[in-house]
Amino acid sequence: MFIDVSQIRKSPGQSYHFDLTEAIVPLAVGNDEIHFRAPVKVSMDIKNTGKVLDFSGNLQADTELICSRCLEVYAFHLDTDFKEQFCHESDVEAVTGEGLDTADMYIFDANRIKLDDLLNEIILLGIPMRCVCNDNCKGLCAVCGANLNDKNCNCIKEDIDPRLGVLKKYFD
Ligand SMILES: [Zn+2]
Ligand SMILES: [Zn+2]
Repeated sequence: MFIDVSQIRKSPGQSYHFDLTEAIVPLAVGNDEIHFRAPVKVSMDIKNTGKVLDFSGNLQADTELICSRCLEVYAFHLDTDFKEQFCHESDVEAVTGEGLDTADMYIFDANRIKLDDLLNEIILLGIPMRCVCNDNCKGLCAVCGANLNDKNCNCIKEDIDPRLGVLKKYFD
């Protein structure tokens, strides 16, 4: 998704509001993917502070994550605020001269800003490091791979990685 900032760049001190809805392709995270049940909603203001554009707003996404304990897919609603800065390539020198650090800013080189990287970063930062479907999730039996949230098995528990239990289930 692109946003046209030509008018904003001409208007120091001004703020513009945007409401965006964007369908996002599944995002890769390590070996997993985050899927989206609905388009992501973004409500944000872009303020021209002189040479830097301040982006601030809120992002909402209905995602599907995989529980690290029971390996089931579960719904996770992400509701997160963000603040990011964008600087046009031709302004980097002036901004640095003013003593600002552009290392943490997104640099763009036209009058259209591609929002994909920004949205992906906000989503990845907002997703829990350790995904659990429910704090009380009992996970999988390490022996037979049964989902212990659904049923109890009679296995004698040994100290095995639960993911190996899942594999074992396929071989039985
Ligand atoms: Zn779970
Ligand atoms: Zn079992």
